[in-house]
Amino acid sequence: MVFDLTLTDEQQQTRQWAHDFARREMREATVDGVPVHRHYDEAEEFPWPVVQKAAGIGLYGLDYYQMVGQDPSGITSALVLEETFWGCAGIGLAIFGSGLALAGLVATGTGEQIGTWAPRIFGTPDDVKVGAYAVSEPGAGSDVSRIRTRATKVDGGWLLDGEKIWITNGGIADVHVVVATVDPSLGHRGQASFLVTGDAEGFAQTKKTRKLGIRASHTAELAMTDCFVPDEQLLGGQDRLDAKLERARNPDRERRSGALSTFEATRPIVGIQAVGVARAAYDASVTYARQRETFGVPIVQHQAIAFKLADMATDIDAARLLCWRGINMAVTQTPFLHAEGSMAKLHAGRVAVRVADEAIQIHGGFGYSREFDVEKFSRDAKIYEIFEGTKEIQQLVISRAITREG
Ligand SMILES: Cc1cc2nc3c(=O)[nH]c(=O)nc-3n(C[C@H](O)[C@H](O)[C@H](O)COP(=O)(O)OP(=O)(O)OC[C@H]3O[C@@H](n4cnc5c(N)ncnc54)[C@H](O)[C@@H]3O)c2cc1C
Repeated sequence: MVFDLTLTDEQQQTRQWAHDFARREMREATVDGVPVHRHYDEAEEFPWPVVQKAAGIGLYGLDYYQMVGQDPSGITSALVLEETFWGCAGIGLAIFGSGLALAGLVATGTGEQIGTWAPRIFGTPDDVKVGAYAVSEPGAGSDVSRIRTRATKVDGGWLLDGEKIWITNGGIADVHVVVATVDPSLGHRGQASFLVTGDAEGFAQTKKTRKLGIRASHTAELAMTDCFVPDEQLLGGQDRLDAKLERARNPDRERRSGALSTFEATRPIVGIQAVGVARAAYDASVTYARQRETFGVPIVQHQAIAFKLADMATDIDAARLLCWRGINMAVTQTPFLHAEGSMAKLHAGRVAVRVADEAIQIHGGFGYSREFDVEKFSRDAKIYEIFEGTKEIQQLVISRAITREG
């Protein structure tokens, strides 16, 4: 397919729709006189009413994924994410974080499991639910082969035992996709995913994590103690797991798995969120630089400030294009031969951090105060160099891909 950068009328309307929602419900609406995005940042609370409103207009839930899925270029989803995360990255993640659970379910579940559990992740517009994807552990972040949460086969199901850390929506989710090891000797090849409901016996949120940024997004630690999960909640089912373990025990027969390309496909989606944060910081900077006067002129007339804005705009456009390419490659199932998905996230994360830092600089002392939003954008931006693969892991993946022979 030709990759056309001209937005269709429909894409422009969808972008405007997402932008209007973000502006109205996150920036302009208030709680006790405080703008919604600042309120949830300061309260460090999950923004249930905003997610409910998003569900009410079709921005949350399966309807949303069906709507953006109709665009064969994938760019509609990029536009919606950039605008929503422009509004607030924490609230954006509250709205779109459940997509991780959906991705985990769709990647490994059977058709029947997807049909049953996908609607349950989101609930209904009148009774919204969220989902979580739980991989990371105290001793296993970048190195997921070290996962210790153990799944042991028992009559009629499995017993899960272990701890998870940093889990977005962990404990408040109705459905958790939990990755556990069924055979630790096989590293990541000995792992399986399970659907664990928030009310399962032996499953608990042990701590809510307090964070630097994206504070409206709920992050928690989880513990599973003899947590029983019925057979039907092993994603992919027993036969598929047995076949996978058999291949792992006979490496000669194991073909190169598609695991790398799964991560490559999701990383540009995270990257475009970072572009939204960077644009928020940039937009605030342009407005401020036009208004603030020093030495008799608006600071935008000082070349030092104007050049900063020029670099910020250029960096954001470059990051956006990398993300659009990665998202387009994912939806058209183009192989990521040079780790183009990781490139998009690596660059977009760096751009968000750099642009938000320059935004504080442009705002001078006001940028360092909580009176202005740019300090929040800077705190929010940093996560994009850490989660869904740190920037060093992206560099590792890219360097391996570009130096691979043949
Ligand atoms: C707010 C937040 C939300 C999150 N949400 C989720 C979630 O929903 N589900 C989930 O499963 N996880 C989640 N995570 C976990 C996240 O994916 C991990 O924090 C991340 O992968 C890094 O792992 P780590 O923290 O253990 O760091 P480590 O792996 O311990 O890394 C520490 C440092 O060493 C570097 N490093 C590690 N290995 C290498 C290497 N081989 N070469 C060079 N440098 C290296 C890293 O880049 C980093 O700088 C979340 C984290 C945060 C902070």
